[in-house]
Amino acid sequence: MRILVIGSGGREHALVWRLAQSPGAHALFATPGNPGMARLATLVPIGDGAPGTLLALAESIDADLTVVGPEAPLVAGVVDEFRAAGRKIVGPTAKAAQLEGSKIFAKQFFRDAGIPTAAFLAAESPDHALQALDRFNYPVVIKADGLAAGKGVVIAPDRASAESAIRNLGGRLVIEEFLSGEEVSFIALTDGRNVVPLAPAQDHKTVFDGETGPNTGGMGAYCDSRILNGAGAQRILDSIIRPTVEATRFTGFLYAGLMMTAGGPKILEYNVRLGDPETQPILHRLRTDLAAVLLAAAAGELGGVTLDWDPGPSVCVVMASGGYPGKFDSGFPISGINEAEAAGATVFHAGTRLGPHGLETAGGRVLGVTASGADLAEAIDRAYSAAGAIHFERMHYRRDIGAKGLRRYNQNVGTGT
Ligand code: AMP
Repeated sequence: MRILVIGSGGREHALVWRLAQSPGAHALFATPGNPGMARLATLVPIGDGAPGTLLALAESIDADLTVVGPEAPLVAGVVDEFRAAGRKIVGPTAKAAQLEGSKIFAKQFFRDAGIPTAAFLAAESPDHALQALDRFNYPVVIKADGLAAGKGVVIAPDRASAESAIRNLGGRLVIEEFLSGEEVSFIALTDGRNVVPLAPAQDHKTVFDGETGPNTGGMGAYCDSRILNGAGAQRILDSIIRPTVEATRFTGFLYAGLMMTAGGPKILEYNVRLGDPETQPILHRLRTDLAAVLLAAAAGELGGVTLDWDPGPSVCVVMASGGYPGKFDSGFPISGINEAEAAGATVFHAGTRLGPHGLETAGGRVLGVTASGADLAEAIDRAYSAAGAIHFERMHYRRDIGAKGLRRYNQNVGTGT
């Protein structure tokens, strides 16, 4: 099988890394890829990245299967383009990708399909939103409608901050009931009928330890089957994922950002692709042949497919550029990756490039240092001792990735009930 992966981040490096271990994957390509992927796949320039360009690229390398990492090509219709030309691809159509593209669309869909979610009101304008505030208690959640890379959500503790959030965000908004509970990332692979759940994960969104500082694309994640008990996972599948797949015939990776509330799991948002950084620890634990599973997904043949996981949890620590998620400089030399890998971790590249003197930083999130262990504490130790070997100027990373999992186990409180 000749397989093309679209994307250039840590998520796509993890896909290429796991695919490289599939006996059926004879040739791997990545577009545009990154220096980490270059050791495992042939990198191909992405051009303008438009659906037609990506199809021509897949045809030129005669790809048997294409896997899409980021949301932009999905929203632009790359899956529709490939299917019309009879080429196999894993991902949702542009129509199904709207579940991520518009928060108002998604919330109205949840309501119509009877999927548990926070009570909400869709406001067409800031004035409308200001009037609607009377109907909510505090804290209240204000969300911008469109794709905002995690920056369009404000949790307002009181009326004055809600009003200023409404004015700052502007445009179409969702006003939403605040939910308390623990957040879980639950991803399922589907062919439009059959649903195959991945192991659950938890993300760490804020830049600093202890859930402080501004939100980022994700500073780390861990994957541990104990995040959900069997009943919790079943409830998510029955009340959230399956009704969505039945109503939309969604294909590809459906990522549910969930709040595990006292009243059961509720959906905060869908992403229409794998999460980054959740993919890195999830795929680190996957034992099943990934190429075979993805081919089955693209062919509509996921019936009867189940995934097999290493029992030990895994942890991914993101090493970021100084200043991220705000302004940062690039071009700092990176050292210590071989030492980190010798210490038992897998280092996924996210924002790196090859400069005149070797590997250097080229983005906000630079590397994802990922390790597994017999238990969560061991996985955390391994990831952090490997991270300790890596250096680039002004780097920073959180020191508490996975700690919320350890806390929960120590208190013996399950998330799924
Ligand atoms: P979203 O983009 O909708 O996933 O929101 C981003 C983050 O804001 C989530 O990961 C939560 O941490 C938080 N959040 C969003 N909606 C709510 C809500 N209704 N109640 C509490 N926290 C929320």
